[in-house]
Amino acid sequence: MNKELRPLPEEDAERRRIAKALSEAGFCLPGSIGDERTRCGKPNCRCKSDPPVLHGPYHHWTRKIGGRTAGRYLSDDQLDRYGSWFEQAKRIRDLLAELETLSLRIVERTEGWDPQAPPTGHRPRNTDERPPANPARQRDKQ
Ligand SMILES: [Zn+2]
Repeated sequence: MNKELRPLPEEDAERRRIAKALSEAGFCLPGSIGDERTRCGKPNCRCKSDPPVLHGPYHHWTRKIGGRTAGRYLSDDQLDRYGSWFEQAKRIRDLLAELETLSLRIVERTEGWDPQAPPTGHRPRNTDERPPANPARQRDKQ
């Protein structure tokens, strides 16, 4: 028998709030900015003195491209232009996480599932992780 999917009114209001916020999202960039201080190659530079005075900070943008980390330096001007785009990306990720949490709560209630804890170590696998061997028989049991 099909279970009726019925979000509570406050859950639907929450979904609409998140969807509205997502619809107002601005441009966003992947990865993150870290400030980096470096040494150069000149032998008598201040970055080789004791104590060293390092160059920078430089704004180093790193992100994954095809599974590998790629980097690019941004000038102060470029950081001014695009810095908020990284905050936009974080805001979108946070909103998506909220929507996922909300959706999980509805699924768990509808299916009567206990909240799932993160898997740890080498414990035997929970049988719930596998699809029912015979979906038709599984239905008969309920
Ligand atoms: Zn130097």
